[in-house]
Amino acid sequence: MITDILVIGSGISGLCYAIKIGEQKPNLKLNIISKNNLLESNTRYAQGGIAVVSNFQKDSFNKHIEDTMIAGAGKCDREVVKFVVEEGNIRLRELIDWGINFDKNEEEFHLTKEGGHSEKRIVHNKDRTGLEIQESLIRKIKTFPNIKLLENHTLVDLITDHHTKSKNNRCYGAYVISNSKQEIIRISSKITVLSTGGTGQLFSHTTNSENSTGDGLGAAYRAKVFMKGLPFVQFHPTALYEKIEGNTFLISEAVRGEGGILKNAHGERFMPKYHPQAELAPRDIVARSIANEIRKSGKPYVYLDFKPIDKKILINQFPTILENCKKIDLNPMVDLIPVIPAAHYLCGGIQVNQFGETGLKGLYAVGECSYTGLHGANRLASNSLLESLVFSHRSAIDSLKKINEKLPSESFYKNIPEWKESQYISNEKIAAIGRLKKRLQKIMTTKVGIFKNTRGLLEAEIELKEIFLNTRNIYNKNKLTLGVCELRNMVSVAYLMIKQSQDLKENVGVFYNHDNVA
Ligand SMILES: Cc1cc2nc3c(=O)[nH]c(=O)nc-3n(C[C@H](O)[C@H](O)[C@H](O)COP(=O)(O)OP(=O)(O)OC[C@H]3O[C@@H](n4cnc5c(N)ncnc54)[C@H](O)[C@@H]3O)c2cc1C
Repeated sequence: MITDILVIGSGISGLCYAIKIGEQKPNLKLNIISKNNLLESNTRYAQGGIAVVSNFQKDSFNKHIEDTMIAGAGKCDREVVKFVVEEGNIRLRELIDWGINFDKNEEEFHLTKEGGHSEKRIVHNKDRTGLEIQESLIRKIKTFPNIKLLENHTLVDLITDHHTKSKNNRCYGAYVISNSKQEIIRISSKITVLSTGGTGQLFSHTTNSENSTGDGLGAAYRAKVFMKGLPFVQFHPTALYEKIEGNTFLISEAVRGEGGILKNAHGERFMPKYHPQAELAPRDIVARSIANEIRKSGKPYVYLDFKPIDKKILINQFPTILENCKKIDLNPMVDLIPVIPAAHYLCGGIQVNQFGETGLKGLYAVGECSYTGLHGANRLASNSLLESLVFSHRSAIDSLKKINEKLPSESFYKNIPEWKESQYISNEKIAAIGRLKKRLQKIMTTKVGIFKNTRGLLEAEIELKEIFLNTRNIYNKNKLTLGVCELRNMVSVAYLMIKQSQDLKENVGVFYNHDNVA
């Protein structure tokens, strides 16, 4: 298959990028693949909203810039922070023009406040902002005749000089597996965009979608693209505690913004003793404080008390949270709600320039899979949807320029070799994949999680090596499946996280190694 542009991932980043191309160049052929159905993504689960300066009487770009810099512990790229904050308002207006609804008080946006923000500036749609965005973007994308949607298709590897025996330092598309038929197809493209989201599935408890296995990062690493900031995994302080491991439901920071209070196993409020901003301290501090309280009490959770929140606000602003608590027989109006920190957001990722382009020509990375310099060592709440909006726009504009530059000939793209492999996978191997995945998650959670130490990181490296050898064995000897692809990527990303964590000698932002303490 040949196309002009291949977009890998259908969250906010991939869809906004594609809409921009569709609007500006309806003659270009664009394909979007998504691992699952179009809806399933981290985007659809976003609750809090988008951080955008809109009330210029109280708020200012400078305040938002400073809040972002402080949360990022001085590791953000100030130039990037500045243009992201300043361009946010225009990008938000575009979303509204595309039919996306945000809550309003008469003519003004209804704004909420989240941890680390000095002003109320989060625009939202109740507590289901992401779903509203994702569903509206999907409706919009379906109106473009030049955009082809391939659901249930998974990126295997990027096509590079290695496959084409050329020396252009370019990306030429991707090999993609159809999840149902398990056939590998070659999609040649002049521009390729990774918008594959995060890596939460590397950990035992995560707020992320099932898709978040770091596939874009794994493929980019194999294509020799640089990664930056991988030790900066943000753990959301308050995911709903359920006894089972796996995906956990997020309880938005906006709950604490409206007055929700954290209490330990003895029912005592503890955050004021850790930080002057108490429950609204930056996420890393709240997550570490909770982890500390959990360690002290031996109970695997702390409590979030919703009772100080006005009941009307609770009902109007947090219907999804109330519904999810009800599913496990809890009522936030009367019960204390058990919460734990869970892997939530990867601040690092594939290194890109100010237009989302990676070091490999023709390859862009947008959204959570990228490292733009906006988040530094810790993301300010609700800055990630903002980053996706600004960088999908910038990448689209840049791609339209680059697609007119001198590229390999049409026949070059036609002659890119097909993927070679085909062997049978036994059920025994499928079970092994599940076991290896669980083992990797356990290692990452216990040794590369909220608290790390040097010895634990070394143990993690050694244990991961074994998982790597088993995975390589399965990969080499069996027919490729979605499960094998994911495991291979998880191993690569875990390895990079461990190695970059070993190299980091200061505790900064979300990163904490006990042995770094002077
Ligand atoms: C519970 C939750 C709440 C959040 N709340 C907020 C919030 O309030 N505000 C905020 O700013 N941010 C929030 N975030 C973060 C934010 O939602 C994400 O960072 C953002 O949506 C990422 O968008 P994306 O397009 O980069 O990736 P995603 O939305 O995750 O999309 C990734 C896409 O890539 C596809 N994909 C993955 N691997 C492959 C593959 N191998 N082949 C093909 N396709 C693939 C997936 O199918 C999916 O379509 C939240 C995140 C979570 C999990």
